[in-house]
Amino acid sequence: MRIRNVLVLGAGSAGLMAAVTLKRKLPDLQVTVVRSPDLGVIGVGEGTTPSFPRHFFESLRLKPQQFYQIAEPTWKLGVRFLWGPRPEFFYTFALEHAQRHPDLSRNAGFYPDPTTPLCGPVSAYMAHNRAFPRRPDGSPQFHNQHAFHIENRKLVAWLEGVCRTLGVAFQDALVTAERSDEGIAALITETGERLTADLYLDASGFRSELLERALQERHHSYDDTLFCDRAVIGGWPRTDEPIRPYTTAETMDAGWCWQIEHESFINRGYVYSSRFISDDAALAEFLGKNPRVATTPRVVRFRSGRTARNWVGNVVGIGNAVGFVEPLEATALQIICVQVSTLADALLDSLCDPTPTLIELYNRFNAQAWDDIRDFLAVHYRFNTRLDTPFWIAARHETQLHGAEFLVQFYKENGPSIVAGAQLLHPSNSFGMDGYLALLVGQLVPHQKPHHPSPAEASAWNKRLRTWSADAERGLTVRQCLDSIRLPGTPWS
Ligand SMILES: Cc1cc2nc3c(=O)[nH]c(=O)nc-3n(C[C@H](O)[C@H](O)[C@H](O)COP(=O)(O)OP(=O)(O)OC[C@H]3O[C@@H](n4cnc5c(N)ncnc54)[C@H](O)[C@@H]3O)c2cc1C
Repeated sequence: MRIRNVLVLGAGSAGLMAAVTLKRKLPDLQVTVVRSPDLGVIGVGEGTTPSFPRHFFESLRLKPQQFYQIAEPTWKLGVRFLWGPRPEFFYTFALEHAQRHPDLSRNAGFYPDPTTPLCGPVSAYMAHNRAFPRRPDGSPQFHNQHAFHIENRKLVAWLEGVCRTLGVAFQDALVTAERSDEGIAALITETGERLTADLYLDASGFRSELLERALQERHHSYDDTLFCDRAVIGGWPRTDEPIRPYTTAETMDAGWCWQIEHESFINRGYVYSSRFISDDAALAEFLGKNPRVATTPRVVRFRSGRTARNWVGNVVGIGNAVGFVEPLEATALQIICVQVSTLADALLDSLCDPTPTLIELYNRFNAQAWDDIRDFLAVHYRFNTRLDTPFWIAARHETQLHGAEFLVQFYKENGPSIVAGAQLLHPSNSFGMDGYLALLVGQLVPHQKPHHPSPAEASAWNKRLRTWSADAERGLTVRQCLDSIRLPGTPWS
């Protein structure tokens, strides 16, 4: 048992998710989190994907009740895109475009016409502002094709509580790294204390104290695909606006703006490229679009990319310390789930004595997971025809598709066919063919094989649309679901 104790540098969502996961899966491991209260946490990162509830409630089997009480999440069924030539379209976490319905000859992706954004029951729920179906007793019928909106500081508070319950130790200190041949010899506090461990997790956020600063691991930039490098963030207390069951992603002059729905707060952020707009102009555009912003807007700078390796010697990077892409699909917490669960499995299966091949595979797997996200976001930029500003003209002409190149070529030649689905993406691609089809069909990317349904088929498709909409209208809003889970006696299974 070579690895008996682990030091986690950083107590943002990355460090705490790592500590919870390791301690839950390897209870005998000593885990200590070191963090600097002066530096604090990034304080943004408010949308998840379904991998978040799956990781915590299915894989780690934590109880959801405390999560709902402390983190106060709302539910997210997907992203509503104000993007491309349609007025709007929906990206859901459910299988919709690749679905084959028995009364239709092709998969559903062939049927939506430019006037309807719906392609299945979940997009109908989103269009009707409903979160979940209503059970006969009036309570919500939850399913696992949802994610959350969570305020970052509430998420961190919940995670810290779970850490303490599991026996994770905490130390407040600003540290610097002391190098060794193996990687890191110790973390040195301001008072000169040496903190040592068998394994160091670098969850120090954009500072990347261990991987990049101390070990000089190479940064692999994504700037030929993702041009944005800043975000201006602000929001306002919710009054009478309905809580929408989705994140909104809206095209802006030099990037895009998110809207994230918390119970009592609406969070907006404009992600932009400093190559195409100044901070002042971005702020003016942001405030013009969002006149109700009540908090002082703050600008966050970032760079898109990942380190060449996640695991170097006795250091494993987690979260922003190892990579970052803008939150267009809210994937940061998703990739942290991937990083920490594969790390815990690697330690478990190697009896805490990881071999060189296992570390090499860990690095390949995680690099692929990052590159998959870049490739998927590339499709969002390359085909958004909504605006003809210099930024969007450049995005359409210059965005490199990398791993999505062949899939896009296939789509242009064959339309939203799922015939070659298994060949186009590797099995662990988290967006899947359905995700790509939602974006390609949603943005009306032209292809050579349009399907012209017979009158009977067109009528069957329209009947489905009407049924999905009618079902959705009977569903519960986010507000009604929140009220329902707070009723005394709510079963938490
Ligand atoms: C504009 C923007 C929007 C985002 N939106 C989303 C979203 O919608 N969904 C999503 O999943 N993600 C989103 N993210 C990403 C998300 O915020 C982060 O990936 C996630 O919170 C993880 O952050 P972290 O823990 O890696 O870093 P941080 O929160 O920055 O934590 C770093 C920790 O390291 C500590 N630290 C650093 N250096 C030292 C040192 N020398 N000594 C001691 N302690 C140290 C700090 O004190 C802190 O505790 C967004 C990010 C940005 C920039």
